[in-house]
Amino acid sequence: MDILSQDIKYLQGVGPNRALLLANELGIKTVGDLLGYYPYKYVDRSRIYQISEIDGNMPYVQLCGQIFSFDTVGEGRAKRLIAHFADGTGSIDLVWFQGIKYAAKSYDCRVPYIVFGKPTVFNGHIQIAHPEIEKAPDHLREQARTTGNLFEGETLNPQPSTLSSQRSALNAQPSTPNAHFRPSYNTSEKMKRSGLNSAAMAKLTANMFNLLKEPLAETLPPYIVQQHHLISYDEAVRNIHYPASSDILRRAQLRLKFEELFYVQLNILRYVKDRQLRYKGLVFNTIGDHFNGFFYNHLPFQLTEAQKRVIREIRADMKSGRQMNRLLQGDVGSGKTLVALMVALIAIDNGCQACIMAPTEILAEQHLATLREFLGDLPVRVELLTGTVKGKKRTAVLQGLVTGDINILVGTHAVIEDNVLFNKLGLVVIDEQHRFGVAQRAKLWMKNAIPPHVLVMTATPIPRTLAMTLYGDLDVSVIDELPPGRKPIRTVHMFDAHRQRIYQLMNRELALGRQIYIVYPLIQETAKMDLKDLEAGFEEIRQAFPHHQVGKVHGKMKPIDKDAEMQRFINHETHILVSTTVIEVGVNVPNASVMIIENAERFGLSQLHQLRGRVGRGADQSYCVLVTKFEIGETTRRRIQVMVDTTDGFEIAEEDLKLRGPGDLEGTQQSGMAFDLKIANLARDGQILNLARDTAQAVIISDPEERNPQNDILWRRLRELRKSNVNWGAIS
Ligand code: ADP
Ligand code: MG
Repeated sequence: MDILSQDIKYLQGVGPNRALLLANELGIKTVGDLLGYYPYKYVDRSRIYQISEIDGNMPYVQLCGQIFSFDTVGEGRAKRLIAHFADGTGSIDLVWFQGIKYAAKSYDCRVPYIVFGKPTVFNGHIQIAHPEIEKAPDHLREQARTTGNLFEGETLNPQPSTLSSQRSALNAQPSTPNAHFRPSYNTSEKMKRSGLNSAAMAKLTANMFNLLKEPLAETLPPYIVQQHHLISYDEAVRNIHYPASSDILRRAQLRLKFEELFYVQLNILRYVKDRQLRYKGLVFNTIGDHFNGFFYNHLPFQLTEAQKRVIREIRADMKSGRQMNRLLQGDVGSGKTLVALMVALIAIDNGCQACIMAPTEILAEQHLATLREFLGDLPVRVELLTGTVKGKKRTAVLQGLVTGDINILVGTHAVIEDNVLFNKLGLVVIDEQHRFGVAQRAKLWMKNAIPPHVLVMTATPIPRTLAMTLYGDLDVSVIDELPPGRKPIRTVHMFDAHRQRIYQLMNRELALGRQIYIVYPLIQETAKMDLKDLEAGFEEIRQAFPHHQVGKVHGKMKPIDKDAEMQRFINHETHILVSTTVIEVGVNVPNASVMIIENAERFGLSQLHQLRGRVGRGADQSYCVLVTKFEIGETTRRRIQVMVDTTDGFEIAEEDLKLRGPGDLEGTQQSGMAFDLKIANLARDGQILNLARDTAQAVIISDPEERNPQNDILWRRLRELRKSNVNWGAIS
């Protein structure tokens, strides 16, 4: 059996208990899994600092000295162990809050140690919490004992000659871990408590490389490796754990990032190819009475150039003979609903039905009303199907769908239930439904003999790199233009203490007959604390504005009550709506001109942008007030500033991706595409991604039948990766 598939339990230093921890905490079950568990950073251990040199602002440092005494201070949860550590130039405290017993047992006084960690200042004294400690190597031991002139001279900084001899030793025997760059591995609290910290993990990876004497098999075809001047897989994984130099580390990262992104793209593009082979598309050749009747007689305004372009792109798809799978991105208020309607009319002109799905009941109802208003007396029947459409009404709708009397069905995810059958479904529009991953979309296709065309619409701007990965199976259209006459929303940042000024703005707008949203964060709709904020805010507003109607909505309310409250705001029966983010997507109340966001620091940028998009939907000047407390961190300040500076959703999304990383971005969790990348970073590795996509595309085009023996290795690897990756499995 090959070493990589061996149970991790048998690796030297693991055993049954640690094996369990590794599996449960990190999903590492085999030696191969450990090989794929890359360090998250490297520490240059070539330099040893003197205690007299360090301060609380330094990153990780390495010290060499001895512990002189231990103290246990505090009680209960505040209990901690302090070791007084000195090197002859000064002393600091080493502190443990957890694993106290283990630490006290593990280290002795007056033994030369190398101590490694991040210095911080506590009560004016420098300390290192939970340091990594190991016995000082022989050549440092004597010096650690003789305090005083311990760190004079150059003995501790490796001479160039030492370094290069280390390197050549490494070249001769690639499995020897280098002492120069040390890998740091992420481990969980639970693992640390059992002594399985970064240093312990490094011991395990070192033991692993002792086993892996033979070069590891290549995971990309040689022609691709050569084409991009990549280093071999073997060299890359060895150096990703134990880099021989910073240069080779960079090349190892490049190789592994490329490979990772390449396989994600290959998986997506192969899926797209299969889909195209397997399914024909309905051919919509006709532009008939429905479309023309609407376009010439009912369209209340000129389409924007962007809307026209997007409709042309969609039309081209729909007559191509291939099934359309297109993502329509357009900022809030860019007029996507109208595009959806016009495209639906083309489907109807070609003897088909259309279905438009919204994420919530209230939005579905709103779409229904909008579509009916747009259509006026045109002979197009639009009906609603949501969870609350029941009894006779439901039966009638289901009936109308089967007979084909209903042309457009608007609804929530209730429309994908198995008992909802269409006469001939030709188009599905999915509005703001990020949860609709590839697998769910595929379900829709069963609703017609030939799968309907699919248009996914989103107002959440998705940076290109993310879209290529998360929605890589979709073609992309963008509405990059707002309808004319919109005034950009004016955004300001105010502190809690500015309450009176905020009230002034509110009073002014209310006097003009406008409406106002006030939003409170609710990270978890169950968090009682958050709800208390909202209740308190609600009461405060009611008292401050006694002559106005104030409404309140949050996710803990019954859907019926929530909808009723929303409806009251839409009907202008309430003037101020205090709410949580339940109003985030799609709600359209053009008369609302002020959006106040409390604790704005607790929202993501994309979310702030969505919320802000609830105002500025009419022709009037609108305002967005971002309220934070006075003391906010630097990153928060920058994030808020981005919102103040720009209303461009794409710019904001790019910034969000940079500041937070893809895992946190909205919509990423739900897409169903692989995003749990191990080494590539979509915020930074855009160029590598392009290269990977192009390379994968070239493979698919040049070897559509998968007969080229050079590519065998690719398909084999792809199968392996699919087996081990839940997300990938969903689309295979
Ligand atoms: P979103 O893209 O956020 O879904 P909507 O479809 O709700 O945007 O459109 C926002 C508003 O803009 C609606 O009131 C809609 O009627 C209006 N609208 C759409 N297209 C145009 C246009 N070309 N000119 C003027 N107003 C438009
Ligand atoms: Mg919309």
